[in-house]
Amino acid sequence: MKHQNQISRKDFLIKTSIAGVSLILGSHLVQCKQEEKSMEKAQNKGPKCDDTTGLTQEEIEQRKNLQYTDYSPEPNKKCNNCALYVVAEGNSPCGKCNLIKGPISPEGWCTSWVPKA
Ligand code: SF4
Repeated sequence: MKHQNQISRKDFLIKTSIAGVSLILGSHLVQCKQEEKSMEKAQNKGPKCDDTTGLTQEEIEQRKNLQYTDYSPEPNKKCNNCALYVVAEGNSPCGKCNLIKGPISPEGWCTSWVPKA
């Protein structure tokens, strides 16, 4: 005879499995949210230097071809530690580059990155 408060082994296994899966999914969701926040934080780091006003179409294409971006995807490779970077002058947060035209973020990067000697 089964007591009213007793649960079957099958019920116990089902309930603990559901709890386990919920726990795993919950922790995965929290981890995803934390990664999303750190990516957003990384993307908000540094100035935006994407104003290509005054550049020729060819110069704009060169920026695209070299995959220039204001926020380096590689933490150890940024314009501010590239041999071709020219530090910003005056109040501008954006520097320049000896290779490509237009404003360059110190936190930026392109495929022609060269380490400073
Ligand atoms: S060559 Fe590329 S990585 Fe180096 S300063 Fe210019 S844009 Fe930045």
